[in-house]
Amino acid sequence: MQYISTRGQSRPVSAAEALLTGLAPDGGLYLPESFPATAAVSPFTEPGLTYQQLASRILKLFLSDYTEAELEACIRHAYGGNFTSPAVTPVTMVGEKLGFLELWHGPTCAFKDLALQLLPRLLTVAARKQRFDREIILLVATSGDTGKAALEGFKDVPGTKVIVFYPEDGVSAVQKRQMVTQEGTNTYVVGVTGNFDQAQAGVKALFTDEEFQQEMAAAGKTFSSANSINWGRLVPQLVYYFKAWCDLCQNHGLAPDATFNIVVPTGNFGNILAAYYGKKLGLPVHKLICASNRNNVLTDFIRTGEYNRNRRFYQTLSPSMDILVSSNLERLLFDLAGADPAQVRAYMDQLREKGSYRLAAAERERLQEEFWAGYADEAETTAAIRRVYERYHYLIDPHTAVGYKVYQDYLEATGDDRPTIIAATASPFKFNYGVAQAVLGPEAAETPDEFALMAKLAAATGVTPPAVLAGLQDKPVRHQRVIAPVAMAETVRTILGL
Ligand SMILES: *Cc1c(COP(=O)(O)O)cnc(C)c1O
Repeated sequence: MQYISTRGQSRPVSAAEALLTGLAPDGGLYLPESFPATAAVSPFTEPGLTYQQLASRILKLFLSDYTEAELEACIRHAYGGNFTSPAVTPVTMVGEKLGFLELWHGPTCAFKDLALQLLPRLLTVAARKQRFDREIILLVATSGDTGKAALEGFKDVPGTKVIVFYPEDGVSAVQKRQMVTQEGTNTYVVGVTGNFDQAQAGVKALFTDEEFQQEMAAAGKTFSSANSINWGRLVPQLVYYFKAWCDLCQNHGLAPDATFNIVVPTGNFGNILAAYYGKKLGLPVHKLICASNRNNVLTDFIRTGEYNRNRRFYQTLSPSMDILVSSNLERLLFDLAGADPAQVRAYMDQLREKGSYRLAAAERERLQEEFWAGYADEAETTAAIRRVYERYHYLIDPHTAVGYKVYQDYLEATGDDRPTIIAATASPFKFNYGVAQAVLGPEAAETPDEFALMAKLAAATGVTPPAVLAGLQDKPVRHQRVIAPVAMAETVRTILGL
Protein backbone atom coordinates (compact mmCIF):
# COMPACT_ATOMS: atom_id res chain seq x y z
CA MET A 1 0.00 0.00 0.00
CA GLN A 2 1.30 3.42 -0.99
CA TYR A 3 0.75 6.67 0.93
CA ILE A 4 -0.21 9.97 -0.70
CA SER A 5 -0.20 13.52 0.61
CA THR A 6 -3.42 15.38 1.44
CA ARG A 7 -2.04 18.25 -0.66
CA GLY A 8 -1.29 16.10 -3.71
CA GLN A 9 2.07 17.61 -4.58
CA SER A 10 4.42 14.94 -3.23
CA ARG A 11 5.14 11.55 -4.78
CA PRO A 12 3.50 8.47 -3.22
CA VAL A 13 5.70 6.67 -0.69
CA SER A 14 5.77 3.35 1.16
CA ALA A 15 4.44 3.05 4.70
CA ALA A 16 8.02 2.84 6.01
CA GLU A 17 8.91 6.12 4.31
CA ALA A 18 5.70 7.83 5.48
CA LEU A 19 6.52 6.87 9.06
CA LEU A 20 10.14 7.98 8.82
CA THR A 21 9.37 11.39 7.33
CA GLY A 22 6.17 12.19 9.24
CA LEU A 23 5.09 15.19 7.19
CA ALA A 24 4.99 15.06 3.37
CA PRO A 25 7.44 17.41 1.59
CA ASP A 26 4.53 19.52 0.22
CA GLY A 27 3.43 20.23 3.81
CA GLY A 28 0.52 17.77 3.65
CA LEU A 29 -0.21 14.71 5.75
CA TYR A 30 0.17 11.16 4.48
CA LEU A 31 -2.81 8.87 4.08
CA PRO A 32 -3.37 5.52 2.34
CA GLU A 33 -3.85 5.79 -1.42
CA SER A 34 -6.83 3.47 -1.13
CA PHE A 35 -8.49 2.45 2.08
CA PRO A 36 -8.61 -1.30 2.89
CA ALA A 37 -11.94 -2.96 2.09
CA THR A 38 -14.42 -3.07 4.95
CA ALA A 39 -14.84 -6.84 4.61
CA ALA A 40 -11.36 -7.09 6.05
CA VAL A 41 -12.73 -6.52 9.54
CA SER A 42 -15.10 -9.46 9.89
CA PRO A 43 -12.56 -11.62 11.76
CA PHE A 44 -12.18 -8.95 14.42
CA THR A 45 -15.16 -10.12 16.38
CA GLU A 46 -13.77 -13.63 16.68
CA PRO A 47 -14.09 -14.56 20.35
CA GLY A 48 -10.95 -14.60 22.41
CA LEU A 49 -8.72 -12.46 20.19
CA THR A 50 -6.06 -10.79 22.32
CA TYR A 51 -5.21 -7.12 21.97
CA GLN A 52 -1.94 -8.12 20.35
CA GLN A 53 -3.64 -10.39 17.79
CA LEU A 54 -6.12 -7.71 16.93
CA ALA A 55 -3.30 -5.17 16.57
CA SER A 56 -1.49 -7.49 14.22
CA ARG A 57 -4.54 -7.91 11.98
CA ILE A 58 -5.21 -4.20 11.75
CA LEU A 59 -1.62 -3.02 11.34
CA LYS A 60 -1.09 -5.56 8.58
CA LEU A 61 -3.77 -3.87 6.50
CA PHE A 62 -1.99 -0.53 6.58
CA LEU A 63 1.69 -1.35 6.91
CA SER A 64 1.83 -3.76 4.01
CA ASP A 65 5.57 -3.40 3.47
CA TYR A 66 6.27 -4.84 6.93
CA THR A 67 6.38 -8.63 7.24
CA GLU A 68 4.03 -10.33 9.65
CA ALA A 69 7.01 -11.39 11.78
CA GLU A 70 8.28 -7.79 11.94
CA LEU A 71 4.89 -6.48 12.99
CA GLU A 72 4.41 -9.16 15.59
CA ALA A 73 7.81 -8.49 17.15
CA CYS A 74 7.02 -4.75 17.36
CA ILE A 75 3.61 -5.48 18.88
CA ARG A 76 5.00 -7.92 21.44
CA HIS A 77 7.42 -5.27 22.67
CA ALA A 78 4.85 -2.50 22.69
CA TYR A 79 1.94 -4.16 24.49
CA GLY A 80 3.48 -6.48 27.06
CA GLY A 81 4.18 -6.11 30.76
CA ASN A 82 4.48 -2.33 30.34
CA PHE A 83 0.66 -2.20 30.47
CA THR A 84 -0.84 -2.92 33.86
CA SER A 85 -4.00 -4.50 32.41
CA PRO A 86 -3.76 -7.76 30.43
CA ALA A 87 -6.62 -6.42 28.29
CA VAL A 88 -4.35 -3.40 27.53
CA THR A 89 -7.40 -1.12 27.06
CA PRO A 90 -10.20 -2.53 29.26
CA VAL A 91 -13.75 -1.23 29.07
CA THR A 92 -15.46 -0.43 32.38
CA MET A 93 -19.24 -0.39 32.02
CA VAL A 94 -20.85 1.99 34.50
CA GLY A 95 -24.35 1.39 33.21
CA GLU A 96 -26.01 -1.12 30.94
CA LYS A 97 -25.25 0.98 27.90
CA LEU A 98 -22.39 3.27 28.95
CA GLY A 99 -18.77 2.25 29.16
CA PHE A 100 -15.43 3.98 29.60
CA LEU A 101 -12.65 2.73 27.36
CA GLU A 102 -9.64 3.05 29.67
CA LEU A 103 -6.67 4.12 27.60
CA TRP A 104 -4.44 4.93 30.56
CA HIS A 105 -2.96 1.62 31.70
CA GLY A 106 0.38 2.25 29.97
CA PRO A 107 3.67 3.50 31.43
CA THR A 108 2.74 7.21 31.37
CA CYS A 109 -0.96 6.87 32.24
CA ALA A 110 -2.38 8.62 29.17
CA PHE A 111 -3.67 7.28 25.84
CA LYS A 112 -0.60 8.46 23.91
CA ASP A 113 1.21 5.34 25.18
CA LEU A 114 -0.86 3.16 22.85
CA ALA A 115 0.83 4.79 19.85
CA LEU A 116 4.14 5.81 21.35
CA GLN A 117 5.02 2.42 22.81
CA LEU A 118 4.76 1.04 19.27
CA LEU A 119 6.03 3.84 17.02
CA PRO A 120 9.73 3.61 18.00
CA ARG A 121 9.73 -0.11 17.12
CA LEU A 122 8.02 0.57 13.80
CA LEU A 123 10.50 3.37 13.03
CA THR A 124 13.50 1.19 13.79
CA VAL A 125 12.22 -1.43 11.34
CA ALA A 126 11.40 1.28 8.78
CA ALA A 127 14.93 2.66 9.03
CA ARG A 128 16.33 -0.80 8.35
CA LYS A 129 14.06 -1.25 5.34
CA GLN A 130 14.98 2.12 3.88
CA ARG A 131 18.69 1.39 4.53
CA PHE A 132 18.63 4.51 6.57
CA ASP A 133 21.82 4.64 8.58
CA ARG A 134 21.61 7.98 10.36
CA GLU A 135 20.90 8.32 14.03
CA ILE A 136 17.29 9.48 14.51
CA ILE A 137 16.92 12.46 16.83
CA LEU A 138 13.37 12.89 18.06
CA LEU A 139 12.63 16.51 18.88
CA VAL A 140 9.47 17.06 20.89
CA ALA A 141 7.83 20.14 22.35
CA THR A 142 5.20 19.09 24.84
CA SER A 143 2.42 20.53 26.93
CA GLY A 144 2.68 17.45 29.15
CA ASP A 145 1.49 14.07 27.92
CA THR A 146 3.21 13.65 24.56
CA GLY A 147 6.72 14.36 25.87
CA LYS A 148 6.59 11.76 28.59
CA ALA A 149 5.00 9.17 26.30
CA ALA A 150 7.72 9.79 23.67
CA LEU A 151 10.46 9.51 26.32
CA GLU A 152 9.11 6.19 27.57
CA GLY A 153 8.61 4.91 24.04
CA PHE A 154 12.07 5.78 22.75
CA LYS A 155 13.97 5.07 25.98
CA ASP A 156 17.05 2.97 25.12
CA VAL A 157 15.84 2.25 21.57
CA PRO A 158 19.08 1.77 19.58
CA GLY A 159 19.81 4.34 16.88
CA THR A 160 17.65 7.04 18.48
CA LYS A 161 17.86 9.93 20.91
CA VAL A 162 14.88 11.83 22.23
CA ILE A 163 15.02 15.46 23.30
CA VAL A 164 11.93 16.91 24.98
CA PHE A 165 11.28 20.60 25.67
CA TYR A 166 8.53 21.43 28.14
CA PRO A 167 7.34 24.80 29.47
CA GLU A 168 8.90 25.02 32.94
CA ASP A 169 5.74 26.42 34.53
CA GLY A 170 3.15 25.11 32.07
CA VAL A 171 2.73 21.45 33.05
CA SER A 172 1.19 19.79 36.11
CA ALA A 173 3.50 18.86 39.00
CA VAL A 174 2.96 15.18 38.27
CA GLN A 175 3.72 15.65 34.58
CA LYS A 176 6.91 17.55 35.40
CA ARG A 177 8.07 14.96 37.89
CA GLN A 178 7.37 12.23 35.32
CA MET A 179 9.70 13.95 32.88
CA VAL A 180 12.59 15.09 35.09
CA THR A 181 12.94 11.59 36.57
CA GLN A 182 13.04 9.96 33.13
CA GLU A 183 15.43 7.03 32.83
CA GLY A 184 17.31 5.80 29.75
CA THR A 185 20.72 6.51 28.22
CA ASN A 186 19.31 8.37 25.19
CA THR A 187 16.76 10.67 26.84
CA TYR A 188 17.12 14.43 27.37
CA VAL A 189 14.57 16.62 29.11
CA VAL A 190 14.84 20.39 29.02
CA GLY A 191 12.67 22.94 30.80
CA VAL A 192 12.03 26.17 28.87
CA THR A 193 11.33 29.42 30.69
CA GLY A 194 8.48 30.25 28.36
CA ASN A 195 5.09 28.88 27.35
CA PHE A 196 4.26 25.86 25.19
CA ASP A 197 3.97 27.97 22.03
CA GLN A 198 7.52 29.24 22.49
CA ALA A 199 8.84 25.73 22.99
CA GLN A 200 6.95 24.56 19.91
CA ALA A 201 8.14 27.50 17.83
CA GLY A 202 11.72 26.67 18.83
CA VAL A 203 11.33 23.06 17.71
CA LYS A 204 9.70 24.09 14.42
CA ALA A 205 12.53 26.54 13.76
CA LEU A 206 15.05 23.72 14.15
CA PHE A 207 13.12 21.48 11.77
CA THR A 208 13.21 24.13 9.05
CA ASP A 209 16.76 25.43 9.64
CA GLU A 210 18.66 24.16 6.58
CA GLU A 211 22.07 24.96 7.91
CA PHE A 212 21.31 22.95 11.03
CA GLN A 213 20.07 20.03 8.90
CA GLN A 214 23.36 20.02 7.00
CA GLU A 215 25.33 20.07 10.22
CA MET A 216 23.24 17.14 11.43
CA ALA A 217 23.69 15.20 8.19
CA ALA A 218 27.47 15.70 8.34
CA ALA A 219 27.40 14.20 11.82
CA GLY A 220 25.28 11.23 10.61
CA LYS A 221 22.09 12.37 12.33
CA THR A 222 18.63 13.44 11.30
CA PHE A 223 15.66 15.01 13.06
CA SER A 224 12.34 13.24 13.27
CA SER A 225 9.03 14.08 14.86
CA ALA A 226 6.81 11.88 16.98
CA ASN A 227 3.89 14.25 16.95
CA SER A 228 0.41 13.11 16.17
CA ILE A 229 0.42 13.95 12.47
CA ASN A 230 2.68 10.92 11.91
CA TRP A 231 0.65 8.11 10.31
CA GLY A 232 2.46 5.73 12.65
CA ARG A 233 0.66 7.32 15.58
CA LEU A 234 -2.80 6.98 14.08
CA VAL A 235 -2.93 3.33 13.02
CA PRO A 236 -2.24 1.89 16.49
CA GLN A 237 -5.19 3.93 17.74
CA LEU A 238 -7.66 2.09 15.52
CA VAL A 239 -6.98 -1.10 17.45
CA TYR A 240 -8.58 -0.11 20.74
CA TYR A 241 -11.83 0.98 19.14
CA PHE A 242 -12.16 -2.46 17.57
CA LYS A 243 -11.21 -4.01 20.91
CA ALA A 244 -14.01 -2.04 22.57
CA TRP A 245 -16.45 -3.31 19.95
CA CYS A 246 -15.34 -6.91 20.59
CA ASP A 247 -15.89 -6.32 24.31
CA LEU A 248 -19.35 -4.88 23.77
CA CYS A 249 -20.34 -7.82 21.56
CA GLN A 250 -18.83 -10.58 23.65
CA ASN A 251 -19.44 -9.38 27.18
CA HIS A 252 -22.16 -6.76 27.10
CA GLY A 253 -24.81 -8.07 24.76
CA LEU A 254 -24.28 -5.85 21.70
CA ALA A 255 -25.57 -7.65 18.61
CA PRO A 256 -22.82 -7.88 15.98
CA ASP A 257 -25.01 -6.01 13.49
CA ALA A 258 -26.00 -3.27 15.98
CA THR A 259 -24.34 0.13 16.10
CA PHE A 260 -22.84 2.09 19.00
CA ASN A 261 -21.55 5.62 19.62
CA ILE A 262 -18.02 6.72 20.45
CA VAL A 263 -17.26 9.90 22.44
CA VAL A 264 -13.73 11.29 22.22
CA PRO A 265 -12.30 14.23 24.19
CA THR A 266 -10.44 15.98 21.40
CA GLY A 267 -7.51 18.35 20.91
CA ASN A 268 -5.43 17.77 17.82
CA PHE A 269 -8.17 15.58 16.26
CA GLY A 270 -5.92 12.49 16.26
CA ASN A 271 -7.76 10.13 18.56
CA ILE A 272 -11.20 10.81 17.08
CA LEU A 273 -9.82 10.56 13.55
CA ALA A 274 -8.66 7.05 14.41
CA ALA A 275 -12.25 6.22 15.42
CA TYR A 276 -13.47 7.67 12.11
CA TYR A 277 -10.99 5.49 10.20
CA GLY A 278 -12.22 2.57 12.29
CA LYS A 279 -15.70 3.28 10.99
CA LYS A 280 -14.38 3.44 7.43
CA LEU A 281 -12.93 0.00 8.04
CA GLY A 282 -16.31 -1.33 9.08
CA LEU A 283 -16.59 -0.57 12.80
CA PRO A 284 -20.38 -0.18 13.31
CA VAL A 285 -20.35 3.34 14.76
CA HIS A 286 -23.50 5.44 14.63
CA LYS A 287 -22.10 8.85 15.71
CA LEU A 288 -18.61 10.04 16.49
CA ILE A 289 -19.07 12.55 19.28
CA CYS A 290 -16.38 15.21 19.38
CA ALA A 291 -15.92 16.73 22.85
CA SER A 292 -13.97 19.97 23.35
CA ASN A 293 -13.16 22.18 26.32
CA ARG A 294 -13.50 25.96 26.27
CA ASN A 295 -11.18 26.03 23.26
CA ASN A 296 -14.19 24.93 21.25
CA VAL A 297 -13.06 25.64 17.71
CA LEU A 298 -14.02 22.08 16.66
CA THR A 299 -17.51 22.36 18.17
CA ASP A 300 -18.18 25.41 16.03
CA PHE A 301 -16.65 23.77 12.98
CA ILE A 302 -18.82 20.68 13.23
CA ARG A 303 -21.96 22.69 13.98
CA THR A 304 -21.50 25.43 11.35
CA GLY A 305 -18.93 24.24 8.82
CA GLU A 306 -16.69 27.22 9.55
CA TYR A 307 -13.27 26.68 11.08
CA ASN A 308 -12.12 29.88 12.72
CA ARG A 309 -9.03 30.03 14.87
CA ASN A 310 -9.32 33.77 15.48
CA ARG A 311 -10.44 33.54 19.08
CA ARG A 312 -9.11 33.74 22.57
CA PHE A 313 -6.97 30.89 23.84
CA TYR A 314 -7.91 29.51 27.29
CA GLN A 315 -5.84 27.49 29.72
CA THR A 316 -8.14 24.85 31.15
CA LEU A 317 -8.29 21.90 33.52
CA SER A 318 -7.83 19.68 30.44
CA PRO A 319 -4.55 21.13 29.09
CA SER A 320 -3.93 18.41 26.50
CA MET A 321 -6.95 19.74 24.63
CA ASP A 322 -5.93 23.41 24.77
CA ILE A 323 -5.44 23.69 21.02
CA LEU A 324 -6.76 26.09 18.39
CA VAL A 325 -5.33 24.46 15.28
CA SER A 326 -6.15 20.76 15.13
CA SER A 327 -3.54 19.49 12.68
CA ASN A 328 -5.08 16.10 11.99
CA LEU A 329 -8.30 17.67 10.74
CA GLU A 330 -6.57 18.06 7.37
CA ARG A 331 -6.95 14.31 6.82
CA LEU A 332 -10.69 14.49 7.39
CA LEU A 333 -10.93 17.51 5.07
CA PHE A 334 -9.41 15.37 2.33
CA ASP A 335 -12.33 12.95 2.63
CA LEU A 336 -14.95 15.68 2.98
CA ALA A 337 -13.61 17.37 -0.15
CA GLY A 338 -14.04 14.16 -2.14
CA ALA A 339 -10.30 13.37 -2.15
CA ASP A 340 -9.51 16.59 -4.01
CA PRO A 341 -6.08 17.85 -2.89
CA ALA A 342 -6.57 21.22 -4.61
CA GLN A 343 -9.54 21.89 -2.33
CA VAL A 344 -7.53 20.87 0.74
CA ARG A 345 -4.76 23.26 -0.33
CA ALA A 346 -7.27 26.06 -0.75
CA TYR A 347 -8.65 25.56 2.77
CA MET A 348 -5.18 25.34 4.29
CA ASP A 349 -4.13 28.52 2.47
CA GLN A 350 -7.16 30.32 3.88
CA LEU A 351 -6.39 29.04 7.34
CA ARG A 352 -2.83 30.34 7.08
CA GLU A 353 -3.78 33.67 5.53
CA LYS A 354 -6.89 34.67 7.45
CA GLY A 355 -7.19 32.04 10.15
CA SER A 356 -10.45 30.59 8.89
CA TYR A 357 -12.23 28.69 6.12
CA ARG A 358 -15.79 27.57 5.45
CA LEU A 359 -16.88 24.22 4.02
CA ALA A 360 -19.23 23.98 1.06
CA ALA A 361 -22.77 22.95 2.04
CA ALA A 362 -22.43 19.38 0.77
CA GLU A 363 -19.17 18.95 2.68
CA ARG A 364 -20.74 20.24 5.86
CA GLU A 365 -23.60 17.77 5.51
CA ARG A 366 -21.14 14.92 5.10
CA LEU A 367 -19.34 16.11 8.24
CA GLN A 368 -22.53 16.26 10.27
CA GLU A 369 -23.61 12.82 9.15
CA GLU A 370 -20.58 11.33 10.89
CA PHE A 371 -19.93 13.72 13.78
CA TRP A 372 -21.81 15.40 16.59
CA ALA A 373 -20.03 18.06 18.67
CA GLY A 374 -20.23 19.83 22.00
CA TYR A 375 -18.04 21.33 24.69
CA ALA A 376 -17.68 21.75 28.45
CA ASP A 377 -16.46 24.79 30.33
CA GLU A 378 -14.47 24.58 33.56
CA ALA A 379 -17.41 24.41 35.96
CA GLU A 380 -19.10 21.78 33.79
CA THR A 381 -15.92 19.71 33.71
CA THR A 382 -15.65 19.74 37.50
CA ALA A 383 -19.36 18.95 37.85
CA ALA A 384 -18.98 15.99 35.48
CA ILE A 385 -16.15 14.49 37.55
CA ARG A 386 -18.27 14.85 40.70
CA ARG A 387 -21.40 13.46 39.07
CA VAL A 388 -19.67 10.38 37.70
CA TYR A 389 -18.06 9.74 41.06
CA GLU A 390 -21.31 10.15 42.97
CA ARG A 391 -23.37 8.13 40.52
CA TYR A 392 -21.00 5.30 39.74
CA HIS A 393 -18.20 5.55 42.28
CA TYR A 394 -15.88 5.83 39.29
CA LEU A 395 -13.07 8.40 39.02
CA ILE A 396 -12.41 10.17 35.74
CA ASP A 397 -9.83 12.78 34.78
CA PRO A 398 -10.78 16.25 33.49
CA HIS A 399 -10.28 15.31 29.80
CA THR A 400 -12.56 12.31 30.14
CA ALA A 401 -15.00 14.50 32.08
CA VAL A 402 -15.32 16.80 29.08
CA GLY A 403 -16.35 13.70 27.11
CA TYR A 404 -18.93 12.71 29.70
CA LYS A 405 -20.51 16.17 29.83
CA VAL A 406 -20.79 16.37 26.05
CA TYR A 407 -22.32 12.89 25.98
CA GLN A 408 -25.01 14.07 28.42
CA ASP A 409 -25.74 16.96 26.05
CA TYR A 410 -25.93 14.53 23.14
CA LEU A 411 -28.40 12.31 24.98
CA GLU A 412 -30.57 15.25 25.80
CA ALA A 413 -30.46 16.72 22.30
CA THR A 414 -31.05 13.51 20.37
CA GLY A 415 -32.61 10.97 22.74
CA ASP A 416 -30.30 8.43 21.14
CA ASP A 417 -29.57 6.03 23.97
CA ARG A 418 -27.85 3.22 22.08
CA PRO A 419 -24.68 1.76 23.70
CA THR A 420 -21.91 4.32 23.96
CA ILE A 421 -18.21 4.20 24.71
CA ILE A 422 -16.38 7.23 26.11
CA ALA A 423 -12.61 7.30 25.54
CA ALA A 424 -11.00 7.75 28.98
CA THR A 425 -7.77 9.39 27.88
CA ALA A 426 -5.83 9.82 31.14
CA SER A 427 -5.67 8.43 34.65
CA PRO A 428 -7.43 10.73 37.17
CA PHE A 429 -4.24 10.65 39.25
CA LYS A 430 -2.36 12.48 36.54
CA PHE A 431 -4.52 15.56 37.11
CA ASN A 432 -5.04 15.50 40.87
CA TYR A 433 -5.82 19.16 41.23
CA GLY A 434 -8.89 19.14 39.01
CA VAL A 435 -10.11 15.80 40.30
CA ALA A 436 -9.61 16.59 44.00
CA GLN A 437 -11.40 19.89 43.59
CA ALA A 438 -14.39 18.07 42.13
CA VAL A 439 -14.54 15.10 44.44
CA LEU A 440 -13.28 16.50 47.74
CA GLY A 441 -14.41 20.10 47.35
CA PRO A 442 -12.51 23.32 46.70
CA GLU A 443 -11.00 23.50 50.22
CA ALA A 444 -9.39 20.10 49.88
CA ALA A 445 -7.68 21.21 46.71
CA GLU A 446 -6.16 24.29 48.25
CA THR A 447 -2.80 22.68 48.87
CA PRO A 448 -0.52 23.16 45.89
CA ASP A 449 1.19 19.82 46.56
CA GLU A 450 -0.18 17.44 43.93
CA PHE A 451 1.34 14.38 45.52
CA ALA A 452 -0.40 15.17 48.80
CA LEU A 453 -3.63 15.54 46.80
CA MET A 454 -3.05 12.19 45.14
CA ALA A 455 -2.76 10.52 48.55
CA LYS A 456 -5.83 12.35 49.82
CA LEU A 457 -7.87 11.35 46.80
CA ALA A 458 -6.80 7.73 47.12
CA ALA A 459 -7.67 7.68 50.82
CA ALA A 460 -11.05 9.33 50.32
CA THR A 461 -12.16 7.21 47.36
CA GLY A 462 -10.46 3.88 47.99
CA VAL A 463 -9.16 3.98 44.41
CA THR A 464 -5.48 3.01 44.06
CA PRO A 465 -3.28 5.34 42.00
CA PRO A 466 -1.12 3.69 39.32
CA ALA A 467 2.18 2.59 40.89
CA VAL A 468 4.22 4.57 38.33
CA LEU A 469 2.58 7.80 39.54
CA ALA A 470 2.54 7.06 43.26
CA GLY A 471 6.22 6.09 43.15
CA LEU A 472 7.34 9.25 41.34
CA GLN A 473 8.13 11.18 44.47
CA ASP A 474 10.84 8.74 45.44
CA LYS A 475 12.56 8.67 42.08
CA PRO A 476 15.77 10.68 41.69
CA VAL A 477 15.72 13.74 39.45
CA ARG A 478 17.91 13.04 36.42
CA HIS A 479 17.28 16.12 34.29
CA GLN A 480 17.86 19.61 35.59
CA ARG A 481 18.44 21.70 32.48
CA VAL A 482 16.30 24.81 32.32
CA ILE A 483 16.97 27.27 29.51
CA ALA A 484 15.55 30.38 27.87
CA PRO A 485 13.61 29.81 24.63
CA VAL A 486 16.38 31.50 22.60
CA ALA A 487 18.89 28.90 23.79
CA MET A 488 17.07 25.86 22.34
CA ALA A 489 19.26 25.44 19.24
CA GLU A 490 22.44 25.79 21.27
CA THR A 491 21.18 23.23 23.77
CA VAL A 492 20.49 20.71 21.01
CA ARG A 493 24.04 21.27 19.70
CA THR A 494 25.48 20.66 23.15
CA ILE A 495 23.43 17.51 23.68
CA LEU A 496 24.39 16.11 20.28
CA GLY A 497 28.03 17.19 20.52
CA LEU A 498 27.87 19.19 17.28
C1 LIG B 1 -3.50 14.33 23.80
C2 LIG B 1 -4.66 14.17 24.71
C3 LIG B 1 -5.98 14.43 24.28
C4 LIG B 1 -6.29 14.94 22.89
O1 LIG B 1 -6.06 13.96 21.90
P1 LIG B 1 -5.99 14.37 20.36
O2 LIG B 1 -5.57 13.14 19.65
O3 LIG B 1 -4.94 15.46 20.29
O4 LIG B 1 -7.33 14.86 19.97
C5 LIG B 1 -7.02 14.19 25.17
N1 LIG B 1 -6.78 13.78 26.44
C6 LIG B 1 -5.53 13.52 26.89
C7 LIG B 1 -5.35 13.10 28.30
C8 LIG B 1 -4.43 13.72 26.05
O5 LIG B 1 -3.18 13.48 26.51
